[in-house]
Amino acid sequence: MEYMNDKFNEECGVVGVYKKDNKDASKFVYYCLYALQHRGQESAGIASNQCGEINNKKGMGLLNEVFANGNGVDALKGNIAIGHVRYTTAGESQLKNAQPLDVLYKGQQIALAHNGNIVNVKNIKGILEDSGVVFNTTSDTEVILNLFARNIKYGEVFAIRELCQLISGSYALVITFGNKLVAVRDINGFRPLCIGENNRSYVVASESCALDAIGANFVRDVEPGEILVIDEEGVHSHRIDTSAERKMCIFEYVYFARPDSTLDGINVYTSRYNAGRIMAREIPIEADIVIGVPDSGIPAAIGYSKESGIPYGMGLIKNKYIGRTFIQPSQKMREEGVAIKLNPLKEVIEGKRVIIIDDSIVRGTTSQKLVEIIRKAGAKEVHLRAASPPVISGCYFGVDTPSKEHLIAANLTLQEITQTIGADSVGYITLQGLVEAMGRDGNDFCKACFDEKYPVTIPRNI
Ligand code: AMP
Repeated sequence: MEYMNDKFNEECGVVGVYKKDNKDASKFVYYCLYALQHRGQESAGIASNQCGEINNKKGMGLLNEVFANGNGVDALKGNIAIGHVRYTTAGESQLKNAQPLDVLYKGQQIALAHNGNIVNVKNIKGILEDSGVVFNTTSDTEVILNLFARNIKYGEVFAIRELCQLISGSYALVITFGNKLVAVRDINGFRPLCIGENNRSYVVASESCALDAIGANFVRDVEPGEILVIDEEGVHSHRIDTSAERKMCIFEYVYFARPDSTLDGINVYTSRYNAGRIMAREIPIEADIVIGVPDSGIPAAIGYSKESGIPYGMGLIKNKYIGRTFIQPSQKMREEGVAIKLNPLKEVIEGKRVIIIDDSIVRGTTSQKLVEIIRKAGAKEVHLRAASPPVISGCYFGVDTPSKEHLIAANLTLQEITQTIGADSVGYITLQGLVEAMGRDGNDFCKACFDEKYPVTIPRNI
């Protein structure tokens, strides 16, 4: 998180590998990061640990730009390695904030990678700075690393417990030092983290798709408030002393995670597909074809089609080589970005009443552009459906939702949204419907972007 800017949220993926056969772990981290690239395209890095000696290579851009064709991975020696991919929209997208971060503390090297946002970082950092601590980055991760290092002489579990008493917010952490790999999931479990194994290694990763990438077997999710210490004796589980309610981010399922990942026991594809089916019941409309916005709108469109009996069609073709439209810094670039990224298939759309399903409507920019290009391709009617409820409030826990003034549903009525987007109708799944799609108790999720109920107090000076 770069809290010096008005935009501070950061989306990331983390991975840690411990190899029991003493072979290099960095190659496995590299493949896992490939599977997690969707979680961050701004910077990537791998830190390896060979008997306490840490080597860290990171850079701006995609994994394949930092390690072109895998170059540089071989030099990262050691049976333990951690990795990170990161994306912020903050102005300061700088190499110094790329992760993993590493420090030398009393002769011991420590490397750490973090997914999430610490909401009270300003206060803590202020106290540390007043006592003479200097920082190299504008990232909250460095504050975590500092807090960890100062207590490591009492053992890593004590050090984590201590720092967790101070920090508030979301954090999935992987840390390496000495001969250990440590993984931590915050007490609410905002961000996902799971552990896998194959006979020669343990792997901890943000999403299960990363385990699949290296042929590791999924063991289980790391529990909210759990600390895993992995060393030559195996995996040791400890608890952070404070307990809290489970509050997994529901937006991970809506948009962020890969459909082939299963997070906290819920498969992402299935949850999106279910959302589509529920939507067809909640907000039905007569039409000739259902299309999905690639990629995250597709499972819901298939579900909608199945439930409604309206045929599913591939009405939009995505250019695979373009990053997320959100990455474009200005509104104008974002709008143009949509056209470069998605092209309608005239043959599928022409003369038809089209239902177009996206995972979410955030600013409304994408939808407006999509409705326009689908009309241009000859659709008779265009009905937009969102597989998540209206986004009415910003996220402080690691998803890049813009501030309230840019959220279309926070500012306009449904009728106004329909007019602005230019669709014949707009409909959203209800929050109840989305929770039903998860197949779990709604209290298990953070849904603050939809209901403004933040599970953790957000300091005023954030
Ligand atoms: P818009 O309504 O123009 O703000 O864009 C919504 C589109 O952006 C949807 O198609 C989503 O797939 C995608 N989207 C939603 N949330 C995010 C996010 N946090 N980062 C990047 N893209 C997102």
